Amino acid sequence: MQTYVFYNDRLLLRKAGEHRCRIPDESELPKDLADRPLPSHEVLLPNGNTIRTLAIDHEVNEGADWQMTGLRASFDYLPISEYKAAGKAFQILWWDRHSRFCPVCGTPTEQRAPIMKKCPACGYEIYPPISTAIIVLIRRGRDEVLLVHARNFRGTFYGLVAGFLEPGETLEQCVRREVHEETGLQIDNITYFDSQSWPYPSGLMVGFTADYASGTIKLQDDELSAGAFYHRDHLPELPQKLSIARRLIDHWLKERP
Ligand SMILES: [Zn+2]
Repeated sequence: MQTYVFYNDRLLLRKAGEHRCRIPDESELPKDLADRPLPSHEVLLPNGNTIRTLAIDHEVNEGADWQMTGLRASFDYLPISEYKAAGKAFQILWWDRHSRFCPVCGTPTEQRAPIMKKCPACGYEIYPPISTAIIVLIRRGRDEVLLVHARNFRGTFYGLVAGFLEPGETLEQCVRREVHEETGLQIDNITYFDSQSWPYPSGLMVGFTADYASGTIKLQDDELSAGAFYHRDHLPELPQKLSIARRLIDHWLKERP
């Protein structure tokens, strides 16, 4: 069975050629990993396949056959199906590590199902958490798009307005609130685009498009360091291909009206 081995957020990859890797099978793992009792889970993927994931307590010696790579960077080395499976595997390990004790009464929890733990003292049930966030591409006219640089972006690229869903909100209300809070703008025509599991560490990004309606840009200073409408022919550095932000931008670039 394919085995996704993590040391914190670093994934063990089997080298398979120039700048290419794959996930190892259980039988190929370095001997010292295979023989030790480590936190391990079987994970059912959305495509119906089952994989195994393993949390280790030290980096593996890389040598000629192995490579340890951050989960996000593994996108550059793995087939897309394995990168997605790694995301789910990581979320299960992250949840396992963060749910060892009941948050109500502090008793050690017991695993009752692949994605359910239960407190034997008070009966509280714990499932892997998913933090929902929206991300929105805002058009102005035919040729302009709002791009922002958030202070928490890793890099110099420009992306889209995004933020976490709050209790009691619909996704559309969240889009409207985040855009207004972060940029001062009002928007119309909020339309669902697509969603993407975002395992850093346990998110779901829900993508929307919208049209500029009114207002002048007034950036929320503690979140954004820059932001403006950009013409499609003069775009700044864009997010990496793996993100839904980039897919929204690429989709907009293609649909020249
Ligand atoms: Zn409890």
